[in-house]
Amino acid sequence: MDCNLCPRLRAHCAEIARVRRRAYAEWEYWGKPVPSFGDPRARVLALGLAPGAHGSNRTGRPFTGDGSGDFLYPVLHEAGFASQRTAVSRDDGMKLHGLWITSVVRCAPPGNKPTPEELRNCAPWLDEEISLLTNLRVVVCLGRIAFDGLLVQLRRAGVDGMPPRSSFVFAHGAEFALPNGWTAIASFHPSLQNTNTGKLTTEMLLAVFLRARELAGL
Ligand code: SF4
Repeated sequence: MDCNLCPRLRAHCAEIARVRRRAYAEWEYWGKPVPSFGDPRARVLALGLAPGAHGSNRTGRPFTGDGSGDFLYPVLHEAGFASQRTAVSRDDGMKLHGLWITSVVRCAPPGNKPTPEELRNCAPWLDEEISLLTNLRVVVCLGRIAFDGLLVQLRRAGVDGMPPRSSFVFAHGAEFALPNGWTAIASFHPSLQNTNTGKLTTEMLLAVFLRARELAGL
C-alpha cells in the first residue's frame, strides 16, 4: 500500500481520489495501491489487469464498486467462490473461499493501460504473492494483459519445461496445462466494454469459474 515505484500511476490515482466522480463526491477514495483479496489457502487465482479508477481505487478492494465487479462477483457467488453477490466496499462482509484475486498492476493506470515499465515494477509483488499461495492449482487470467503477465511470471519464476510463447494463444475459455502442474484458463475481462456489448456474457464467465473449480478439485 506504500509502494511508490510508478510515479505516473501514483499521481493518477491521487488525482482521481482528489477530484472524484460526482456520484461518489462523499466518498473518501482509497487512492493507494490496492491490496489483493481472498482466501490465502486458495487453489484458484483470478488474475486481473489493474484497479478501476472509480472502483477499487475508490474502495480499496479488487473489483469492488464498479461495473466489472458488479458483473464478476455474482458469477463468483454462483460458482461457490464468493459469500455474496454484491461487492460495494471493503467492509461489506464479502468472503472468498478457495479463491484469491489479484492483478498484474496494483495502481489504476490512465486508460487502463500500464506501460511495460510499470508492469515490470509491479511484477515482484505478484511473484511474492504467488510464492505464498502454496495450494494454487488453477489461474484464471482475466484479459489478455493478465494472460501475458502470467506467462512472463512463470518464466521469471524459472518454471522448467515451459513451451514456447507461440503455443499460448489467447481465447476465451482456452486451457493450458502448465509444466508446474497448474492449469491456466484464459477469459475475456469483465469490463463494461466486454459485458455491455455481449462479448462476455454471465454464462461464459460462469463456465470459466466452474471449470476452474473442477480443475482445482473443489
Ligand atoms: S503499480 Fe505496483 S509497482 Fe507501481 S506503484 Fe503501484 S504497487 Fe507499486
